Amino acid sequence: MAGGKAAQTVPQAAIPMDQLLRCVHCGLCTSACPTYLELGNEADSPRGRLYLMRAVAEGRLEWTADVVGHLDLCLECRACETACPAGVPYGQLLEAARADIARTYRRPWRERLLLALLRDMLFPYPGRLAAALRPVRSLRGALKRLAGLLPGDVRRMLALLPPGAPSACPPLPSVIPAQGLRRYRVALLTGCVAQVLFPEVNWATARVLAANGCEVVVPARQGCCGALHLHSGAREAARAFARRNVAAFDLDDVDAVITNAAGCGSTLKEYGHLLQDDAAASQAARFAGKVRDVAEFLAGIGIVPPAQPVHRVVAYHDACHLAHGQGIRSEPRQLLRAIPGLRLVELPGADHCCGSAGLYNILQPAMAARLLEKKIAAIASTGADTVATGNPGCLMQIAKGLRERGLAVDVRHPVELLAEAYGFSRAGDLSTGDDSSTRGARAGA
Ligand code: SF4
Ligand code: SF4
Repeated sequence: MAGGKAAQTVPQAAIPMDQLLRCVHCGLCTSACPTYLELGNEADSPRGRLYLMRAVAEGRLEWTADVVGHLDLCLECRACETACPAGVPYGQLLEAARADIARTYRRPWRERLLLALLRDMLFPYPGRLAAALRPVRSLRGALKRLAGLLPGDVRRMLALLPPGAPSACPPLPSVIPAQGLRRYRVALLTGCVAQVLFPEVNWATARVLAANGCEVVVPARQGCCGALHLHSGAREAARAFARRNVAAFDLDDVDAVITNAAGCGSTLKEYGHLLQDDAAASQAARFAGKVRDVAEFLAGIGIVPPAQPVHRVVAYHDACHLAHGQGIRSEPRQLLRAIPGLRLVELPGADHCCGSAGLYNILQPAMAARLLEKKIAAIASTGADTVATGNPGCLMQIAKGLRERGLAVDVRHPVELLAEAYGFSRAGDLSTGDDSSTRGARAGA
């Protein structure tokens, strides 16, 4: 983190002191924290970071490069929240601290450039992202040969890109009718990066919901959930995205707002908090109350038993923002166990972060690589032929790690496996109903 300059003292009200004071310093969170476990440094533990935030909030410390570095190294995986007996809302405190840092601390140029390009200009806008990826994909071979000449950040982004041609899935229609009797009407959040890189996951989600009696509407005016901005301190931009989504979804018209991305889901569920002082506060709280992860929703309504056997040995990886952020652990496993022919095996450390964490694997490559290495070793130890996980960032990160280790393990969203079990067996057919197309394993292709 060298290169940043200390700035003026942070206003004391910027980080909520009442929440900070809930920490009783017991340290029970430290053994759950990936960065503390890797480095053994108190300043890289949840408790240490809370000490740093408090010292800044009380005016005893400034946001220096060193202090900011310890907070930057946090994945915001929220494993510490799960472990904390005092209910310290670590994620919200970190977001407040990062907003303070964004206001008062000048980051080194590399970080400012990456945030401006990826977070502000590209990722929240699917049209721009798709346009930017087209030449990258067609030049992938040449870029690989030139890899040694490319800057590390570019190499890392290329390595994350799923191999092969982009999915042939067309955009989702505005309404996908329920199969049989309509039991629910739900709205689907299609995500921004996810709809470009994993359109087949959105199709699988819509198909599986429809197969379970849900009419699925896809609101046209929806946008990015704001998670990348919120987690990196751009709070006002995150609030603007939240306002846009609250206005885009007709809450009177649907029973639930469905997302298949853990990171989006945990942010959407916090819209009430994010917009608590806004004119849209009550609508935001209502919106948040209707948000459901697709696994949470399907397990809640009870699924039609899928009939098609799926002969796979599957290890399930808990996305942090599903397990720690939303407390959703049993539901995806329950759905996977309902698939005939599928054998679910336990993944050691299933809820340990894979190192993806939004932009983390680009901004903090060394720690991200260490965590990914552990995750891949754990996957390899299971003998599974498939990893299932409910977050696009984890899908990309884990697939990258498997490719780099040369392991032919497929990486899928749980709804893709469910779609397969309902007879939609490959990506192409999810949109057309044709069962004949094939797709190489993301990891092994
Ligand atoms: S959010 Fe994760 S990385 Fe950050 S302090 Fe908590 S456990 Fe550690
Ligand atoms: S477990 Fe909770 S109360 Fe204990 S040190 Fe960690 S954050 Fe503080």
